[in-house]
Amino acid sequence: MPTRPRSRLLLVLSSPSGAGKTTLARRLMERFEGELTFSVSYTTRPPRPKETPGRDYHFVSAEEFALMVARDSFAEWAEVHGHRYGTSRAAIEEAFSQGKDVLFDIDYQGGRQLKARYPAESVRVFVLPPDMRTLAGRLRGRATDSPEVIQRRLAKAVDELGHYHAYEYLVVNDDLDRAFGELEAIYLASRCRWDRKSFYAEQLLAEASSEAFRTEILK
Ligand code: ADP
Ligand code: 5GP
Repeated sequence: MPTRPRSRLLLVLSSPSGAGKTTLARRLMERFEGELTFSVSYTTRPPRPKETPGRDYHFVSAEEFALMVARDSFAEWAEVHGHRYGTSRAAIEEAFSQGKDVLFDIDYQGGRQLKARYPAESVRVFVLPPDMRTLAGRLRGRATDSPEVIQRRLAKAVDELGHYHAYEYLVVNDDLDRAFGELEAIYLASRCRWDRKSFYAEQLLAEASSEAFRTEILK
């Protein structure tokens, strides 16, 4: 069997804040360790208590972010909840050069920009909460933001929800195991799309037209 070719897949997860995409993303990263890399975004938002710089985000000043925009360092960037967030182009290319797919936790604006820049590579999944009461409960239960921030995030959630139709897949995150199973299925199926597997078929066709095929295998 020939070595696995690079599938160059960009798996984008978006959702209203609190729907569970961080939880699902972490689990997917564990399940596909070594095959999938998580895109650590740059942001001007201050770190939350349990966040680690370089693992959750690269926390930068507004000036540093503006400089990166001016240098065209971002594959996409957007303003969300009053802060700027962006994905480094270099990080995507590095993951591709290592033969890894990339997982993103970005908003719909970022999803749209990535799809425009990488139309063949991007697969976008929108995570839905089972209902709005549950969404509010999860945001409050997370207890990392103030009540005002939570209210703002709920208002933004309705806005974000309105963009679901731009996505290729929807996953309802009611039961975590079931939702994860669906996400895993989407990722695996995307890797099996013909354009990412044509390498194998071409190898077989090349083998079938070889001298060895005629002289050894056919006889
Ligand atoms: P997001 O990244 O979309 O803002 P998180 O992954 O941080 O959301 O999830 C928000 C909260 O909801 C977290 O406290 C998380 O543990 C919880 N949560 C996520 N998925 C589920 C689920 N299926 N059932 C119950 N709680 C969940
Ligand atoms: P949070 O501040 O809760 O970590 O993230 C707020 C929102 O910003 C989430 O919807 C998250 O998906 C989005 N986000 C995080 N990183 C990026 C990024 O690099 N680009 C874009 N467009 N959105 C991002």
